[in-house]
Amino acid sequence: MAKILLVFVGLLSAFSIYYTYKSSADCKQRINTLQTKLAEKDKLIDKLKKEKEEILAKYKQIEEKIKKANKALKRKGIKLTLPQGGTYITNPKDINLYTKKLNLSLEKIIKTLSDYPVGVPLYGRITSRFGWRRDPFTGKRAFHTGLDLRATYKQPIFATANGKVVYAGWGKGYGKMVKIKHKHGYTTLYGHMYYIKVRAGQYVKAGQIIGYAGSTGRSTGVHLHYEIRRYGKLINPIKFLYLNSRNSF
Ligand SMILES: [Zn+2]
Repeated sequence: MAKILLVFVGLLSAFSIYYTYKSSADCKQRINTLQTKLAEKDKLIDKLKKEKEEILAKYKQIEEKIKKANKALKRKGIKLTLPQGGTYITNPKDINLYTKKLNLSLEKIIKTLSDYPVGVPLYGRITSRFGWRRDPFTGKRAFHTGLDLRATYKQPIFATANGKVVYAGWGKGYGKMVKIKHKHGYTTLYGHMYYIKVRAGQYVKAGQIIGYAGSTGRSTGVHLHYEIRRYGKLINPIKFLYLNSRNSF
């Protein structure tokens, strides 16, 4: 009887040792799993932190560009200040707010640029520049008041800025011409047209077709004579044509 009891106690302790061992092994395994998961989480946090830093760096770059743009606009005498990120970009949560501001800035730039006669009135090669030249009719030295762009017959002519048509009709040497008054003292003039598509008093948008190229008036071939004035004073239009490389021919 005592022997049986001894065997029984022996077996019981063996089992209990086994179970303790097994449960500790389970525990170890669970700890390992948790540690792996924790390591993964840490990795993810590191990744997110890195991404956050990268995003903030990008916003800082944008902010630097805006600062430069503001300086350039100021130099050009354009009254427009683009909002800078400043405090917004220290907290990624507020990036949405900053993005909204950036969008507004871009809209402001587009709107402002549309009021200035920037860009090309017709896609064509420059055949005669602004300034002193030999007159093609008299052969004498004469001042060329605008820029000549070679055109194909009936090629569309675009208004270079938003404005009001102040003249649309015959203009002596200019032939069929259109004159548009813009904001900030600017006027543009488009000459030698084949056909005028707008009327005096009409408001036009930048990029709107105002007529088609021809050779009316004092002209030796189909081309557009394009002038820009500021407060009545002639300006070399080339400066306004070549704001970017895409505008160059
Ligand atoms: Zn000309």
